[in-house]
Amino acid sequence: MSSTFNDFNFNAGLLDSLNSMGFNKPTPIQIEAIPVIMSNKDLVACAQTGTGKTAAYMLPILNKIIESNTDGLDTLVLVPTRELAIQIDQQIEGFSYFINVSSIAVYGGGDGATWDQQRKALTDGANIVIATPGRLLAQLQSGTANLTKIKHLVLDEADRMLDMGFYDDIVRVISYLPTERQTIMFSATMPTKMRALANKLMVDPQQINIAISKPAAGILQQAYLVYEEQKNKLIKHILASGNFNSIIIFSSTKEHVKKLERDLSNMGFSLKGFHSDLEQEEREEIMRAFKSRQLQMLIGTDILSRGIDIDGIDLVINAEVPGDAENYIHRIGRTARAATTGTAITFISDTDQYKFLQIENLIGREIEKLTIPIEIGEGPVYEPEKKPKHQAKGYSNGSKSKSSSNSSSSNNRSAPKEHSKPIHREPSGIKHTIVKKPNPPQE
Ligand code: AMP
Repeated sequence: MSSTFNDFNFNAGLLDSLNSMGFNKPTPIQIEAIPVIMSNKDLVACAQTGTGKTAAYMLPILNKIIESNTDGLDTLVLVPTRELAIQIDQQIEGFSYFINVSSIAVYGGGDGATWDQQRKALTDGANIVIATPGRLLAQLQSGTANLTKIKHLVLDEADRMLDMGFYDDIVRVISYLPTERQTIMFSATMPTKMRALANKLMVDPQQINIAISKPAAGILQQAYLVYEEQKNKLIKHILASGNFNSIIIFSSTKEHVKKLERDLSNMGFSLKGFHSDLEQEEREEIMRAFKSRQLQMLIGTDILSRGIDIDGIDLVINAEVPGDAENYIHRIGRTARAATTGTAITFISDTDQYKFLQIENLIGREIEKLTIPIEIGEGPVYEPEKKPKHQAKGYSNGSKSKSSSNSSSSNNRSAPKEHSKPIHREPSGIKHTIVKKPNPPQE
C-alpha cells in the first residue's frame, strides 16, 4: 500500500505543489482512489468531506492533464453548491502552483458580467470546469460551451445533488459529453437512485468505501435536552461561558436563522446569518470574512454543512436536531478539522428525541446529555423511544432495521458492481439504521 505521494509517479511539478501545501502523506481515500483513476477505470467512491476526497480525484486528473499536455477543456466536475465549486477551484489553484493547468467555477447567481466571464472561460477552454448543474446547463443551452472533448467527468457529493433535485439536469448535462470518457462519482451515501445513476453512466466501475458515518475523534459531542422556548437563553449561556473564537450555529430554516441573527446581535460577537435569500456576492463576502476571522460567528442553514472547508472552528451548535442523521455528521464535521479539536453541541427538544436516537445509532454510540442551567428552568425528560406521530414514516426504529438491513433495498449502500474489497467498514448494522428521507433543498 502506498504511503507517500512519490509512490504514485506524479509529475515533479505536482509533487512540488503538494509539498508546498504541506500534503506529506496521502489519506486513505487518496491511497485507494488515485491508482484506480490513474488506470482510467470508472470509479464509485463512498467518502465524505474531510477525508481528502477532492485531492483523491483531482490529483490523478491533474497529473494526466500535464502528462498528456492537454490543451483546452478536459475535465468536468459537477457539484451541488456554488460554495463547493469555489472551494474546489481554490484547491486546484493550490495544486497547480507549479504546473500549468487552468480551471473555472461555473455557478448560478451573479450578474451579466459573471455570465460573460464564465462563458468566455468555457469557450477559451479552461482545462477543468467545476459547475453546478443548473448553471452549466443554461450555458450549454445558450450554445456557448462545447463539452465534446471532455475526458473526465466527476460527480462530487452526488447524493447531495440528487437530494437537491438535480437528477434531470445532470442527465441532460451528460448528454452533451462524449460517451468515451472516465466517470468518477464521489458520494457520502449510496442510495438506490445513485446506484441507478451510476449504472447508467459508468462502465464496470470500481468501488471504494471509506469510513463514513463517523465524526472525527477530536470532536467533543454533547447535547442538551431543552424546550423550544429555552433555546435562545441556552445559546447565550453557552456563548457567554466558553472561550470560543469561531462558531457556527445551524438552524433548520432560514426564518429561524434570521431570528437567531437578530436575537444574538447584542451579545458582542461579530456575526452574520448565512442562507439562500442572500445574494451570491453577499454569501462570498460573508464566507471570506468568516475564514479570515473578521467574523466570529455564522448562523446558517444546511447550505453551510457540506463541503465548506474552514479550519479552526471551535464550536458548532445544532439549534435543532438535523432532519437527516447523516447531516449531523456533516454539520459537526465543520469543527475539529485536520486533527484539531472542537465542540459540537446539539439541542434536543421534546419532539426531536427520536431523531436524535437515530443519530446515536448511526454513529454507534451515546452522546453525553448535559443538564440545562437551573436559571433557564427544567428541560424535558429523555424518552427517545417514544416516537412522535409525525416522524413515524420518516425514520425506522434502530434495532428493528438493524436486523432487517440486508433486505432493505432503499438503504443498501453497496454500489453497482463491487470489485475492490470495501475498506474501513462500520460495525455491521450501524449504517443501516436510517430510512433516508429526501432532504428538502436549502439552496
Ligand atoms: P476534502 O475532504 O477534500 O474536503 O479535504 C479536507 C481537507 O484536507 C482540505 O483542507 C484539504 O486541503 C486537506 N487535505 C486533503 N488531503 C490532504 C493530505 N494528503 N494531507 C494534508 N491535508 C490534506
